[in-house]
Amino acid sequence: MKNPEVARLLYGIADLLEMQDAQFKPAAYRKAARNVETISADIEEVFNRGGKNALMEIRGVGEGIAEKIEEFLRVGRLAYYDDLKKKVPGHVAGLMGVPGLGPKRIKLLHEKLRIKTISDLEAAAKAHKICALPGFGEKSEEDILRNIEIFRKGHERMPLGYAVPVANEIEQRLKSLNEAVRVSVAGSVRRREETIGDIDVLVSCKDGKAAARIMDFFAGMPDVGRILAKGETKTSIVLNSGLQVDLRVIDNASFGAALQYFTGSKEHNIAIRGIAVMKGLKLNEYGVFRKGGGKRIAGRTEEEVYKAIGLPYLEPEIRENNGEIEAAVKDKLPNLVGYGSIKGDFHCHTVRSDGRNMIGDMVSAARKLNYEYVAITDHSRSERIAHGLAIDEMEQWLKEIRAVAAKTKGIRILAGSEVDILPSGELDYPDDLLKKMDIVVGSVHSHFKLTKEEMTKRILAAMENRHLDILGHPTGRRFGRREPYDADFMEIFAAAAEKKVMLEINAYPDRSDLSDVLARQAKSIGCRFVIDTDSHSTNDLAFMELGVSIAKRAWLTADDVVNTRPLEGLPRFFRRMKI
Ligand SMILES: [Zn+2]
Ligand SMILES: [Zn+2]
Repeated sequence: MKNPEVARLLYGIADLLEMQDAQFKPAAYRKAARNVETISADIEEVFNRGGKNALMEIRGVGEGIAEKIEEFLRVGRLAYYDDLKKKVPGHVAGLMGVPGLGPKRIKLLHEKLRIKTISDLEAAAKAHKICALPGFGEKSEEDILRNIEIFRKGHERMPLGYAVPVANEIEQRLKSLNEAVRVSVAGSVRRREETIGDIDVLVSCKDGKAAARIMDFFAGMPDVGRILAKGETKTSIVLNSGLQVDLRVIDNASFGAALQYFTGSKEHNIAIRGIAVMKGLKLNEYGVFRKGGGKRIAGRTEEEVYKAIGLPYLEPEIRENNGEIEAAVKDKLPNLVGYGSIKGDFHCHTVRSDGRNMIGDMVSAARKLNYEYVAITDHSRSERIAHGLAIDEMEQWLKEIRAVAAKTKGIRILAGSEVDILPSGELDYPDDLLKKMDIVVGSVHSHFKLTKEEMTKRILAAMENRHLDILGHPTGRRFGRREPYDADFMEIFAAAAEKKVMLEINAYPDRSDLSDVLARQAKSIGCRFVIDTDSHSTNDLAFMELGVSIAKRAWLTADDVVNTRPLEGLPRFFRRMKI
């Protein structure tokens, strides 16, 4: 799927044009980029099917842009873009990644202070050279420094949701080879850590010849940008996206031990090695061995390895030495919520606000997942950029949703809204409208910079409204763009538990909000959860798995997660829902 790459190219062109003071064109490129980014079809398939003309069927893509996309898809680069870049000095374009800096500000920074790189920018902000520029002030320097931090954090490690599909695809490719016997992703991706440094993959095969062929295949994959090292047992590559992938060839007899070892975490492994030693055993990446004699007693599978040292199998998501080993020893491990246990989604958008698909498409897609229910929750009136609905429009939309629901068999469509929590803490619709909804998800979408006290008060006030069912993406973070807002989350969780407001684990990849750490704390004070995708297209519904992995890492069970319940089980948790 090249849609993200093509969108990035078009956004890049828009930024470069804007730095050169082009009129209108930047907006046109951005519009096309947004549409390429969000269509559900694979742009390469669209092109292969119908060439340039098919590309022009995408909204906002005219002939000129279609030709550029065509060149990029055919040759992997675009001469027009490379020329534009040459006209912009140094690495100035690289500054675009810093949140809060647009092309106009970057141009000014370059013209007045010769700022070309992020390091230049950081130095100038620290030396208070920026505050004197028109349109900037003391406050902007602080903002710039904080945004540089956010940018760096977001780029050192990749959000899990971007890495998992890449890891899965590589795993599938390797599994399809006759030479491969066993293949598994290991490392932080397998543990579903929230951000990923690189991807580790293990493979076992029949013999040395097969291993060599697998290494050749791996290093020759089409999306490989650079080969860092290629050997008989380990090959490291960097993909075009910048992500590093390491492939190791492992003996069949020690595959389980290696998988356990390379999955980590380091802290977990240190702890279980200690347990092995206490039992007079030795544990390493080759297996479990008796001390002295050196006889291998386990290694083929992970289950075997854990069993040999007296532990039950531990799911990768909780291998953090955060109490899982103590719980395993006492036979008190929670029965973690399973990937297949979700029965519906409570947070989806359609074209009626800022989604990409019609309600019918969203419902069909949910039914394909074997869901029993799906909620349609378009934006409320204050969300102007997301086409939020005015009161009368929402009244009408609820009726339309119910009309579709009445005609639809096999899945229950719930009518609701993602309602803004206004700075005052009021919800964005009056009570008599909220009363008509099956589901009210309340979310903060604006005024992120309130003080800790103000933000806490705002959310606590929203929870006073008895129509609020779910607190949507509770901390507001976006990887690489925005830190969580400042609020007393423990106080908020305590109130949520008391008022029976469910906390959302938002599975949208750049949100992943709540984090596993916060969700585990919230559970400890009695909160209930829902896992939602916040889908803006039919494809997004697949993010659910990512949300479940957060829930697993937070030690949640099916009982903690309300959308593991069948439809009949829901009214107990939603005040107005009739099924
Ligand atoms: Zn939202
Ligand atoms: Zn949403």
